[in-house]
Amino acid sequence: MAKKWVYLFNEGKAEMRNLLGGKGANLAEMTNIGLPVPPGFTITTEACNTYNAQGNEFPDGMWDQVLEALREVERETGKKFGDKKNPLLLSVRSGARASMPGMMDTVLNLGLNPETLKGLAKLTENQRLANDAYRRLIQMFGRIVMGVKAGGGEEDPFEKILGEYKAKIEGGQDTDLTADMLAEIALRFKEVLKEKAGREFPDDPYEQLRMAVAAVFGSWMGKRAVDYRNFNRLPHNWGTAVNVQTMVFGNMGSDSGTGVAFTRNPATGEKALYGEYLVNAQGEDVVSGIRTPSPIGHLKGQWPKIYEEFSRICDVLEKHYRDVQDMEFTIEKGRLWMLQTRTGKRTGAAAVKIAVDMVGEGLIDEEEAVMRIDPLLHVNQLLLPRFDPQEKMNAAERFLAKGLNASPGAASGVVALTADTAEKWGKEGRDVILVRPETAPDDVHGMLESRGILTQRGGATSHAAVVARGLGLPCVAGCEAIRVDLDRRLFSVDGKAVKEGDVISIDGTTGEVFAGPIATIAPEFEKEEDLVTLLAWADKARKLGVRTNADYPKDAAIARKFGAEGIGLTRTEHMFFEEDRLPVVQQMILAKSGQERQAALDKLLPVQRGDFEGIFEVMDGLPVIIRLIDPPLHEFLPSYEELLEEVAILRCKGDNPKELAEKEALLGEVSAMREANPMLGLRGCRLGITMPGITEMQVRAIFQAACRVAKRGIDVHPEVMIPLVGHVNELKLQRETLEKVAEEVMEEEGTQVEYTFGTMIELPRAALTAGEIAQYAQFFSFGTNDLTQTTFGYSRDDAEGKFLLKYVEDKVLTLDLGDEQEIAANPFQSLDRKGVGRLIRIAVEEGRAANPDLEMGICGEHGGDPSSIEFCHQVGLDYVSCSPYRVPVARVAAAQAAIKDEREVGFKDV
Ligand code: ADP
Ligand code: MG
Ligand code: MG
Repeated sequence: MAKKWVYLFNEGKAEMRNLLGGKGANLAEMTNIGLPVPPGFTITTEACNTYNAQGNEFPDGMWDQVLEALREVERETGKKFGDKKNPLLLSVRSGARASMPGMMDTVLNLGLNPETLKGLAKLTENQRLANDAYRRLIQMFGRIVMGVKAGGGEEDPFEKILGEYKAKIEGGQDTDLTADMLAEIALRFKEVLKEKAGREFPDDPYEQLRMAVAAVFGSWMGKRAVDYRNFNRLPHNWGTAVNVQTMVFGNMGSDSGTGVAFTRNPATGEKALYGEYLVNAQGEDVVSGIRTPSPIGHLKGQWPKIYEEFSRICDVLEKHYRDVQDMEFTIEKGRLWMLQTRTGKRTGAAAVKIAVDMVGEGLIDEEEAVMRIDPLLHVNQLLLPRFDPQEKMNAAERFLAKGLNASPGAASGVVALTADTAEKWGKEGRDVILVRPETAPDDVHGMLESRGILTQRGGATSHAAVVARGLGLPCVAGCEAIRVDLDRRLFSVDGKAVKEGDVISIDGTTGEVFAGPIATIAPEFEKEEDLVTLLAWADKARKLGVRTNADYPKDAAIARKFGAEGIGLTRTEHMFFEEDRLPVVQQMILAKSGQERQAALDKLLPVQRGDFEGIFEVMDGLPVIIRLIDPPLHEFLPSYEELLEEVAILRCKGDNPKELAEKEALLGEVSAMREANPMLGLRGCRLGITMPGITEMQVRAIFQAACRVAKRGIDVHPEVMIPLVGHVNELKLQRETLEKVAEEVMEEEGTQVEYTFGTMIELPRAALTAGEIAQYAQFFSFGTNDLTQTTFGYSRDDAEGKFLLKYVEDKVLTLDLGDEQEIAANPFQSLDRKGVGRLIRIAVEEGRAANPDLEMGICGEHGGDPSSIEFCHQVGLDYVSCSPYRVPVARVAAAQAAIKDEREVGFKDV
């Protein structure tokens, strides 16, 4: 039997989402649970993939199956496609697995032509309706299928003609156009098509259907759709389905209408119907803003019966799907039809509230609630400043434009059009939104002083987006509806001007831009009760521990509040960079004698001890990993290039021989320490071995601090981490020397504290010889930043700008998530499972075999990335460590990895 490419709605179900797309699967599900859905059928995503793979040709047998399904729909509706008396009209709707902007829009009223139009007019006793349906068909088909639209500075040719007619009538609304006018307009539209597309509008209904289906298939590979999938890391091999459905008419008069609604409020999560409808309107009228719709609550007063039925359906759907539904409906002459349902998108606040509420209502269990949260998007949103949802709703009239949601968070402030202005105003204490055509590296000084960034051009990996995410600033990028006019010091949207100095508000989480201010909520973690509840459920489910990377007591305290169970990485060198310490550090590095060096180290000792005491106090009762000095020493010295320049100037001037001699000497020393590849140079444990004084001082400081706070009744657990070990002997040597120091100090202090020594696994050789190394380590911490650098041979400092972003964009670098999901990925953001991950697996297995008590975690930036956390769970690490604000994200991600794991095992068992 030939392959099945086409499914009637009553042949599908919700679980068939991959094959039928989200829209198709849900139309089938609604049909089968007995809800009123206009009959139709779905052409599969496989048909789309085959079509695109074989050079834009329908798969064998597909068209015959379409015709067969169409016959079935005709039987069910009693109408006939292309019939002059009782014509069946169709909508053609795209629908991928996930709803996806950039895909082809819906074409309504397919099947109309001058002949069938007469039939429709007679049947509905409404000539105007029929004429209007025809002109809409030509307009939609022209734009969507034949590609005639606004562009190149020219306005939409259809809207232009409509505008001419609307200008002739009183009221000036679509609904005031007469039947005759609409007939004329249809003819004019056809002329436009012939002129612009070079071919006639197809009056043959079957030709309309064939072209529309082909256009939906083709749109899957359209640029906008491809870009969207790249940005959202969605695979390109999903394909889109096509839904062909009987038309119902919401524009048949005052007993008809159309609307959209959510079963709960998607902004706040409140349990109440939320949505809008329009009387006597069709399709996209509600969202297009032609007329102002009424809130869904008004339906109750206007059509009580319909409202009751609709509420009942909402209830059925929510219980059936056990999640918030986002629905589209149409009322044709007092009869309610459901046109779509899907899981409702929601803000982070709503997501968390709804998940917790639904557990309370017995709809889902705690684990399911945890699975409902997007760890990065939703949890982060609740921790970042966001607009007050009520204020934001009130600001709807001030909506200006929507761009790409490039970096989350919300901000209001005055518009600054150059980085210099932004910097100046920011420093004066004003809240600034930097608005640029696009940003470049020489705008960064202005970005640093801004509350948010808005750009006209550029995508998710544009400079503005990347920098904003790094700074934790909200950013709306590629907002093409705005025109930045630097000469006139303003930007314009739809002819409205927003001047430099005016206040705007941007929501980087949604991409929206508003005129004027909107109050923001600065979240207080403890008061986010639902989030706190949900995180507690996550903690019950997860197997991974969650620690934090914190260098200062302040960060450590924030992380602890967020639920960190210890510190996975304290970098000691940040402390060296502080202004009052740097000169002593330099003294130590440049010392001419052992005595001089020891003098400098003696000065640093109490300072480091103080740092550690602060951190131990905050982390009372929890483990704290302290990493000994890691970077090459020249990072603490003046720059070679600058010194060279200074010496050259002093030589030219020739008036200060003493200073010249000093600088020359310094230059000599800095030059002697220069390395061609500092990343591969004298750093990490190599420093400790060649200049033992520094690490000995650090260990002394750690144990003095530990003993002293222990005496004050604090429960300390220092874990000393030796970085950049590549050969077991490096660790062996360092540990022997340093553990001796530790014992000495505890003797001196007259106190014993529990401690461990361990190492970072951040070089391929360390991973490959982990069995040996584990004999001298009590813990491993995977330093995946360096491990990624050294495994790929990429310098992280240079790669991003030079080629890495391009590599990601062009999908040279991909991440295999299993289940045929291969996505573009930056290995510094999401752990490369195949390469770096393989090394980790080897190190985990061989390390554990050699030393079953070995504690293992990850402290690279991957520790805060959900996909990497999933991998850490899979290989059986003990914990992940991440920056303080990622701790709640990691708690949820770790729980999801565990739940997924459990469910899959359960599934396999069956
Ligand atoms: P989108 O994915 O953009 O929501 P849809 O396929 O849902 O696109 O179609 C957009 C709109 O077209 C719907 O909201 C609905 O109002 C209208 N529409 C689609 N199919 C039909 C139909 N069979 N009868 C009446 N209106 C329809
Ligand atoms: Mg829809
Ligand atoms: Mg490192």
